[in-house]
Amino acid sequence: MTSPSASSTPAEHFDVLIVGAGISGVGAAYHLTQQCPDKRFVVLEGYESFGGTWHMHRYPGIRSDSDLYTFGYRFKPWTGPPIATAEEILTYMGEVIDENDLDRHIRYSHRITSASWSSSENLWTLEATKTDTNETVRFTTNFLWMCQGYYRHAQGYTPEWEGMDDFEGEIVHPQTWPEDLEYQGKRVVVIGSGATAATLVPAIAAETEHITMLQRSPTYFFPGRNENELADQLRELEIDEAWIHEITRRKILKDQAAITQACIDQPEDMKKLLIAVVKQYLPEDYDVEKHFTPSYRPWQQRLAFVPDGDVFQGIASGKASVVTDQIDRFTKKGILLASGEELEADIIITATGFNLSVLGDIAFAVDGEPVDFAKTVTYRGMMFTGVPNMLWIFGYFRASWTLRVDLLGDFVCRLLNHMTQHGYQRVEARLRPEDADMELLPWMDPGNFNPNYLMRSMDLLPRRGAKPEWQHTQDYWVEKEEIPAVDLGAPEFDYK
Ligand SMILES: Cc1cc2nc3c(=O)[nH]c(=O)nc-3n(C[C@H](O)[C@H](O)[C@H](O)COP(=O)(O)OP(=O)(O)OC[C@H]3O[C@@H](n4cnc5c(N)ncnc54)[C@H](O)[C@@H]3O)c2cc1C
Repeated sequence: MTSPSASSTPAEHFDVLIVGAGISGVGAAYHLTQQCPDKRFVVLEGYESFGGTWHMHRYPGIRSDSDLYTFGYRFKPWTGPPIATAEEILTYMGEVIDENDLDRHIRYSHRITSASWSSSENLWTLEATKTDTNETVRFTTNFLWMCQGYYRHAQGYTPEWEGMDDFEGEIVHPQTWPEDLEYQGKRVVVIGSGATAATLVPAIAAETEHITMLQRSPTYFFPGRNENELADQLRELEIDEAWIHEITRRKILKDQAAITQACIDQPEDMKKLLIAVVKQYLPEDYDVEKHFTPSYRPWQQRLAFVPDGDVFQGIASGKASVVTDQIDRFTKKGILLASGEELEADIIITATGFNLSVLGDIAFAVDGEPVDFAKTVTYRGMMFTGVPNMLWIFGYFRASWTLRVDLLGDFVCRLLNHMTQHGYQRVEARLRPEDADMELLPWMDPGNFNPNYLMRSMDLLPRRGAKPEWQHTQDYWVEKEEIPAVDLGAPEFDYK
């Protein structure tokens, strides 16, 4: 049966439409209910449940790599151990939804395919496919709040290696982990050494015959106990959980600011320190220089916290090992390395990262013209020139993503209330006359932060300008002062 033509379907209207019910979308919905109680809004989510990243990643051991005091929202105390499993994060988000009666605003199984802005009506029209019935439905909205994350959910990134078809075992990407994958008693090779590999390896090592983490180059890890001493002490003193949450957040953020600064000011000292911590978890004769000494500066890529150094414990026990080499090709039996060694495997797991998705792979158009986001300039990594009434929550990488959800949540609500007060129908980020010759730069500074999935797709993302208004600093400590102080009457906002 074909679905009814979209244009014949009547559109349902909302003041604000939130795309995605991950940690960003649920946070956005909360802030709207609190700060713009009169706005009618809906959250459209492609999956059948909330959680985004935490709903769709199902590989064994999946957990956060940053602490939940700051990855949690500022308004909902976190009461568990700092590093949390996906299940714990989903429970926390579920409580936020229940406690604030957000469920009535969320429509699941709605995958948005297009969004068209009409300047004559000052409205977005969206088309979505209902994934359970394949029906096409339409919505109109005054303001589009993009909370769709930054990577393609349906499929992870797997590089093309020669001979992949020859391999007689199974190749699995952690993003699409088969529920019935039998790794017990098998020889497993995990390609990659990012946060995913560091989580997966200790989670399954004991049950495999042997597991090898194969990396092209080493990564920084930060092992430590999965506890927060300050929070535990405050709990002993029977302090209220809301206070504990706030105090612990402030302490963590202060410490993180100091670490970040130290990584910038004394990268060599920090490098030595991080490697020395890793050494403590490994046998004395272990080749730390080869396997755990990265060539980049600490913090240029996300620094993964490893609770209780579990990945290193697996290595120390002999169940897991690390190989640092280049892949020459896949073979029938496994992987042939550039060094000539062949790694035999029954299962190869490609923990090789994401495919970046620019704004949810939605076909955007403004007044009939398709939008090429790479040709837009971003206002502080949230709005885009030429694209009215739209904002994207792109969270922090170095600090917890969610800190920006709260910060931009306040900003959007302030902006919406400002527009209502002044009777404005439309807002667009606009380059000022003095910005005409401004140098345009990539979305993020690659010298500052350069994970592979961003580097591969940076040319698809909006540009950044050299002046503060057009920067995308990824710096929570600067933005937490600057964003609340933004003058909404400034000329970079074009209202109608
Ligand atoms: C394994 C893993 C671990 C991570 N750990 C951390 C961590 O510890 N700390 C940290 O700060 N960050 C972490 N991150 C980054 C993490 O993705 C973000 O922190 C955060 O979860 C992103 O939330 P989000 O809601 O913005 O996006 P997502 O979680 O990606 O959710 C977006 C939602 O939007 C929906 N959506 C997308 N496109 C459409 C569409 N066209 N129509 C309808 N719905 C759509 C998706 O279905 C999804 O549910 C991790 C990422 C991964 C993959």
